[in-house]
Amino acid sequence: MGNLLYDQLFAPHSANPTVFLSQPDGQDITYAAFVARAAQIAHVLTANGVEPGDRILVQAPKCVEMVALYAATLQVGAIFLPLNTAYTKDEVSYFAGDATPKLLVGSDSAVEALSEIAHEVGATLLTLNSDGSGSLMASVDAQPETFPTAARGADDLAALLYTSGTTGRSKGAMMSHDNLLSNSVSLVDEWRITDADRLLHALPIFHTHGLFVALNTALLSGATVVFLKNFDLDMLFAELADATMLMGVPTFYTRLLADHRLSPDIVSTMRLFISGSAPLLAETHIAFTERTGHHILERYGMTETNMITSNPYDGDRRAGTVGAPLPGVEVKVVDPDTGANLDPGEVGMIEVRGRNVFSGYWQMPEKTAAELRENGFFITGDLGSFSDDGYLSIVGRAKDLIITGGYNVYPKEIEDVLNTVDGVLESAVFGVPDPDFGETIIAAIVPETTAGVSEDTLRTAVENGLARFKHPCVFKMLEALPRNAMGKVEKKKLRDAHS
Ligand code: AMP
Repeated sequence: MGNLLYDQLFAPHSANPTVFLSQPDGQDITYAAFVARAAQIAHVLTANGVEPGDRILVQAPKCVEMVALYAATLQVGAIFLPLNTAYTKDEVSYFAGDATPKLLVGSDSAVEALSEIAHEVGATLLTLNSDGSGSLMASVDAQPETFPTAARGADDLAALLYTSGTTGRSKGAMMSHDNLLSNSVSLVDEWRITDADRLLHALPIFHTHGLFVALNTALLSGATVVFLKNFDLDMLFAELADATMLMGVPTFYTRLLADHRLSPDIVSTMRLFISGSAPLLAETHIAFTERTGHHILERYGMTETNMITSNPYDGDRRAGTVGAPLPGVEVKVVDPDTGANLDPGEVGMIEVRGRNVFSGYWQMPEKTAAELRENGFFITGDLGSFSDDGYLSIVGRAKDLIITGGYNVYPKEIEDVLNTVDGVLESAVFGVPDPDFGETIIAAIVPETTAGVSEDTLRTAVENGLARFKHPCVFKMLEALPRNAMGKVEKKKLRDAHS
C-alpha cells in the first residue's frame, strides 16, 4: 500500500545530496542526511510505543529536529499535532485532553507543566530544545538510518491542526494524507517551484502556512529552504541576496517596506514573493511593486482547507484580491441564509470543496456537520465576492460583520477608506453591542507617526466616502493593533477591550 505522503515528500530524497534546510549559522542539512535523521527519530518514536494512528503533540521551538520529527511521525504512520509555542499550560492541557496523544514533545523550559499534562493523559514526555538538544534526540545517533515505513493510505490522517479558536474552543482539523499532498502538488505547479529554488522561511512551523504550504512544497520539488528561526530583518536581508522565493504574512511586507535596505538590487535573484494568512492591504501591494518591481502574489487559504485560491503566476496579480480557485478546488459565493449561488459582485459566504478540504473536526461530529455540508462543501466563515473575470476578494470573517440598525456593514469597506487617510498607518473596524442599534461601529486607528491624526480628518474621510450608517461613532487611537502569530488582527480582543 505504501505511505502516500511519506513516499512523495521524503522517500525520493534518501540519496539526494542537495541542501534541504540551510541555516544562517552555516549548519546545513542535505536531503539525504535529513531523511536518515528522520528515520533515526522514527526508531525512537516506536521505542516509545508510538503506533500508526497515534497522535504526537509537539510544542517545540522551530528547529531542524522538529521538521525531522514531522517526517518521522509520518514515517511511523502517526499523526502530527504541532501547537503554537505561545500556548499556556491550560491551553496545552485542553489540546492534550482532546487529542489524547501517545507522546508529548516540548522544550525543557516547559518540562514541569508538560509532565503534569503528560501524566493527566497517560502520555510519554520527551523534550526538544531550539538547539536540537533534549531527551527526544538523546539516543538518536545510535539508531539505524533507515526505517520500515508504515503503510498509510489517502484517507488516513497525517496531521491534526487546531484552529486558532477566536470563538469558543479550538477545534482539531483532521488533515488526511491526500488533503495535504493534493494541495502541495497544485501549489508546486501553480508557483513553478523547482529544485533550483531557495525559499526564505521565516514563518512558524506550528501553522499550516509555514509547515505545509512552505515545507511540503519545498520537499515535493527538492528546493532548498533557508530556515530562519523567526522573522528577523537583518537575517532576512543577509539571505535575500541569493534567495528566489519568500512566503510571508502581510506584516513581513510592511516591515520590509519600512526598511531602507529594500531595493531592486537586494531582490535581484528573487522570482516570487507570496503573501497570505491575513489580508494584504492594496497599498502595501502597490508600494512593494514601486519599490522593488515585484508584484506580490496573494493567495488565500485556511487550516481546514489548505490553500483555496491564488493570484496567477503569469498574468495579472490584482491588489486587494486573492485570485482564482486553484485547479481541482471548487469555490462558490452563496447567500448565507439560503445557500443559493450569488452573482459576481455580490458579497456572500465563501464555500469550498475539493481534495484539499479536511475530513472534519476531531471528535466533534456536530461542529463538523455544521460547517461541512453533506455535498462536501466547507462553509469557510469568510465573506467575499467574485469579480466578473473570476478573481475572489475577501471582505472579512462573517463573525466580524457588523449589523447596525438592521444594516449589514463590512468592516473592510470602512477600513479601506480610513487606511487611505494621510497619517493613518492601519485601522481595524469592529462592532460593539448597543441597546439602540444592536451594534455601533468603532474604528481603531494606528497613526503613522507620533504626530497622530485628527479625528476631524477621519470623520471627513468617512463622511465623504461612505453612507451615514457606516460611519464609526468612536475613533480609538492605538499604538498597534493586536495580532496573532500569523499577523491576523484579533478583532475579538478589540471588541472585548472596547465594549
Ligand atoms: P488559518 O486557519 O489560521 O490559516 O486562518 C484562515 C483565515 O485567514 C481565513 O479563513 C481568512 O479569514 C484569513 N485569510 C487567509 N488568507 C487570507 C488572505 N489572503 N486575505 C484575507 N484573509 C485571509
